[in-house]
Parts: sequence; C-alpha cells; structure tokens
Amino acid sequence: MKQQLIDNFGRQIQYVRLAVTDRCNLRCQYCMPAHGIEIAPRTDLLTFKEMYRVIRVLTELGVTKVRLTGGEPFVRKDLIKFLEMLSFNDLLETINITTNGAMILQHISTLEKMEKVQNINLSIDSLQQEKFFKITRRDVFPEVYKVFEALEKSSLNLKLNVVVQAGFNTDEIVDFVALTKDKNVALRFIEEMPFNGKGQREMKENWSYKRILEEIQSEFTVKPIVSEKSSTSRNFSIQGHKGSVGIIPAFTRTICGDCNRIRITPIGTFKNCLFDDGVFNIRDFLRNGASNEDLKELFLSLVKEKPKNGFMAEANRSQGRVSESMSTIGG
Ligand code: SAM
Ligand code: SF4
Repeated sequence: MKQQLIDNFGRQIQYVRLAVTDRCNLRCQYCMPAHGIEIAPRTDLLTFKEMYRVIRVLTELGVTKVRLTGGEPFVRKDLIKFLEMLSFNDLLETINITTNGAMILQHISTLEKMEKVQNINLSIDSLQQEKFFKITRRDVFPEVYKVFEALEKSSLNLKLNVVVQAGFNTDEIVDFVALTKDKNVALRFIEEMPFNGKGQREMKENWSYKRILEEIQSEFTVKPIVSEKSSTSRNFSIQGHKGSVGIIPAFTRTICGDCNRIRITPIGTFKNCLFDDGVFNIRDFLRNGASNEDLKELFLSLVKEKPKNGFMAEANRSQGRVSESMSTIGG
C-alpha cells in the first residue's frame, strides 16, 4: 500500500502551504513593522526546482493540495512559470494561491487557463482607500479593488481574507458582509494573531470568533453551512446573499483537531503547525545530497511530531512566544 503521512493523532496530511518568498510589496501593520523585515539572502530561499521536488515527494505520500503563499507570491520572479511547472505533477489536484492582489491584474486570464489553479484568496482589510493605506502602508486600494472585481467575474473561486483588527477595521465588518449580497465571494474574517515581527500588540478590545459572529448577527441572520472536516473556517449563509461568510478562529484555535496541513517556509523550514518554531531545515538536507527516498523517510517521521493543537505547538517552542512576521512563515 502507498505510504501516507499520518500523524500520531491519526490525522492524514493532504495539504501543504508553501511560502514561495518572504518578500512583499506591502507592509501590513499586523504582519510586519513599517520598515519591513530582515529578508533572507536570495541564496537561502528554496529554488523553484527544490520546491518542485519537495512537493512531488509530498504528493507521493498523499498530499493532493498545495497553497502558494508568502510574503507576496507574485513578488517572486517567474511565479507563473513555477505554476506551470507544478501543474505537471500528475499527483497534485489543486493549486491555491493567497495574494494581496496588488500585482495580479495582468495574470488573471493566465491563471484562469491553468486547470489546477482553482482557488484564490485575496486579502483586503478595508473597503476605504485611506484606511486601506493606513493598514497596508501602501496606497494600492484602487488596484486591489479592481482585482477583486475581476476575480469575482472570473472562473476562479474567490475567497476574501479580512484580518479583524481592533482599532482599525471592526466598524467595517457589516459593510464587508453586505458585499456578499451581490458578489459571489466567500468572505473570511480572520482573528488577528501576534505574527507581526514584534509580538502581541496592546488592544483595548478583544475581537475573537465569538465577538465577530455577534457583530455579524447584529445585522444579518446567518445559517451554519456544513464545511469540509478540515476547513479552517466556520461558515455561514445568509438568505438572499450570493456569497457566504466565514470566521477563521486562527488565534483561539478551536479548529486544530481536524488539521490536515503542514507548512514549508521560504527558506525551506518544515513546520507542522503555524505556531511551532520550525521542525527541520529541508533546504540543507536537500543541498547535502538527500535522495527522494531520504526525503520521504524524513517527512514520514517529521509528521509524527505534529502537535495536537496550536497551544501545544506554542508551548513547545524553543524560541519563546510567537512574534515572527507572518511573511516569513506563510499565513
Ligand atoms: N501576501 C499575501 C497576502 O497578504 O494575502 C500572502 C501572505 S499573507 C502572510 C497570508 C495571509 O495571512 C493574509 O490573508 C494575511 O492577511 C494573513 N495574516 C498576516 N499576518 C497576520 C496576523 N498577524 N494575524 C492574522 N492573519 C495574518
Ligand atoms: Fe505582505 Fe501579505 Fe504580510 Fe500584508 S499580509 S505585509 S501583503 S505578506
């Protein structure tokens, strides 16, 4: 029988999130400081060939889905060529992409033609140009909104990621939900996490899953939708709305039990959980001459260390509490 990646809690790993770069064209305040982060030297980043090999081996062990993230994936030169490369992997069923959208308008029709590229997550944290600028520290709202409209009309499945930030955009939760009336989009509110290059920020209010849901229910009657077991969000429909609404309890971590994911960072660190501080450096392993069989053995043993949940992962960290920028991990 084919070898499968199964952790010590019986969870089968089928999804890998691959951060293709730590570079970004924006400076979102919940993700990194205004001056940016210390980026890794180019030679420390996995090459596309190395990434291809890692994904190929993972698919031979039962992974069927990959999400490309970053940093901003489209900042990495020749990303489209990499997507073409990945598409050759016959064991890979789906390639998803998370993007801030600011650079992708000209690529949408190419993405539509790629059979395996089906789902795009677009990050957009405000519907107001000035506030968008305050959050992202770049004045690109018109471009991003254009991309939102183009993606909504395209053949790609579109999800909108909105990080709920106390003191910044909680007054727009209802406006975002109103968008789903006429737009065919899966809106996802994400709890803010301290992955910003500095650690937990001072917040007067705590916008957890529960509070976000209450805010939505103050204006709309929502009905739970049964989602895939491994879904990261709890999802809802609203009568008469084309789109749907979901909440990702990223910080309160009530969804870990069904996690089927692993992560590879831009410098090739293998992570079993967003909250762990890296389990193994695959890049050096590869560059020291590991064969695909060696890689397989490695992955099979690494997933056995997958912690039960994000709280256990955080408690087991060797480098203290989480504070690294999300763009070095791949959110
Ligand atoms: N640059 C791309 C983008 O922004 O969509 C992809 C990388 S970004 C790190 C992936 C996702 O993580 C985005 O939806 C972003 O909003 C989210 N994210 C980043 N920092 C976060 C934080 N501190 N808490 C919650 N979500 C965060
Ligand atoms: Fe860049 Fe995405 Fe981080 Fe914003 S959230 S700074 S777009 S990596």
